[in-house]
Amino acid sequence: MSDETQKIALVTGASRGIGAAIARRLASDGFAVVVNYAGSEDAAHAVVAQIRTDGGRAIAAQADVSDPAQVAQLFDRAEATFGVPDVLVNSAGIMQLGPLAESEDEMFDSMIATNLKGTFNTLRAAARRMPNGGRIVNLSTSVVGAKLPTYSIYAATKAAVEVMGDILSKELRGRKITVNSVAPGPTATSLFLDGKTDAQIESLSKANPLERLGQPEDIANTVAFLVGPDGGWINGQTLRANGGMV
Ligand code: NDP
Repeated sequence: MSDETQKIALVTGASRGIGAAIARRLASDGFAVVVNYAGSEDAAHAVVAQIRTDGGRAIAAQADVSDPAQVAQLFDRAEATFGVPDVLVNSAGIMQLGPLAESEDEMFDSMIATNLKGTFNTLRAAARRMPNGGRIVNLSTSVVGAKLPTYSIYAATKAAVEVMGDILSKELRGRKITVNSVAPGPTATSLFLDGKTDAQIESLSKANPLERLGQPEDIANTVAFLVGPDGGWINGQTLRANGGMV
């Protein structure tokens, strides 16, 4: 595919987990991919190396999405390397759990900073720069629907992300840019698996009637639909990708 016609995707939090699967999938669908990471430099470069081995185009780009200056530099880097991104996928996220009554300020502030402010930072940059016809996908969580105890702060950041994206989809009237959220259920990445007992993992993997954990590729398939040729009529929606959990 020539440089002039190839579309460009910027995926935040693409060094590991769901974001890495999305980056690999979009590269195989023909996008040039900017693989953003915060701290996992080696993992991000491994994602890029695999994409290149498979014949795709990708770069790794470090930026903490909670910092607007770093997000501006991230978009500058994407533009300088491939061009203005046609697709933005906000997968960067952190999750800390605990009963609200026992939650420390630091826990609240850090999830707000990465999950909500981070998404705001990239949405604002995309709203200013993205060409007509672009696609934006935010990662939410099915816990916004399931409302499980200990998830209050995390789910609140993602509920805010959903509504912020829905409103942006209306503000972008006239530019043919869609904004949607994908809300996974339990998905086999370190964000979900770390700190849980085998019994907890087994129980949550049976919370849906298909009786298995989501895999990062399940979520990547959903994102690929929304940013691909068949997803253009979906706008301002949240698609729960969870095997039917909620
Ligand atoms: P992982 O913990 O596996 O990966 C998180 C990714 O986010 C890493 O690439 C990490 O980069 C990046 N990241 C974290 N903080 C920042 C930051 N400040 N700036 C830039 N990148 C950052 O998580 P998942 O892949 O599981 O989660 C992806 C998204 O899906 C998240 O938004 C999460 O909330 C959501 N989700 C996940 C579910 C699950 O069960 N796994 C369920 C529902 C939603 P690095 O390692 O380089 O620091």
